[in-house]
Amino acid sequence: MLIPLFKKIIEFFDSFPEIGPRQAMRLFFWLVKQDKETKNKFLENLKVLFENVNFCQNCFFPTTEKLCLICSNPKRKDEIIALVARETDVLSLETAKVFKGKYFILGGLILPFEDKGLIKERLKILEKRLEDGKIEEVIVALPYTREAEPTLKHLEILRKKFPQVKFSFLAKGIPLGGEIEFIDPETLKEAIEKRISP
Ligand SMILES: [Zn+2]
Repeated sequence: MLIPLFKKIIEFFDSFPEIGPRQAMRLFFWLVKQDKETKNKFLENLKVLFENVNFCQNCFFPTTEKLCLICSNPKRKDEIIALVARETDVLSLETAKVFKGKYFILGGLILPFEDKGLIKERLKILEKRLEDGKIEEVIVALPYTREAEPTLKHLEILRKKFPQVKFSFLAKGIPLGGEIEFIDPETLKEAIEKRISP
């Protein structure tokens, strides 16, 4: 039923994060059915996304400027950073309205069998920032999952290398297996306020 071109498009959607083959197929059929105006709008949005959106030079959150809204805000502290795995974690922490520093987005976790290029590159940038000496505290806000362990191990190396920097961790109350983005703002707020440093 599906000609090779359709299969290729569906496979492309299937490669999106958290989109399975069934959803990819639904997405394909849904898009095909849209009217001309919706299709044009879709293309227009994608064009803006691909041509005008890049990453904040400081924290790697998507932005159309050099710096994102948080990093360009003079009221936010430079000397304290929250280290998160993903962009959506920033949004969750911002909803909790408790963190006044800046962020550093790793872009994921160090996972076996997955491309670690981006994360390793960002960890190197983080190391350089720590060397600069302006950062006084790093709040590690990685998910409380087993998958985060290799990344935490790497951070442990950094912690030992930079004893003058305070590394703190979100307080208990975050369920084991908890992804930052799914934790309610109140729990997150408390976890940051009562953060622990080993
Ligand atoms: Zn930023």
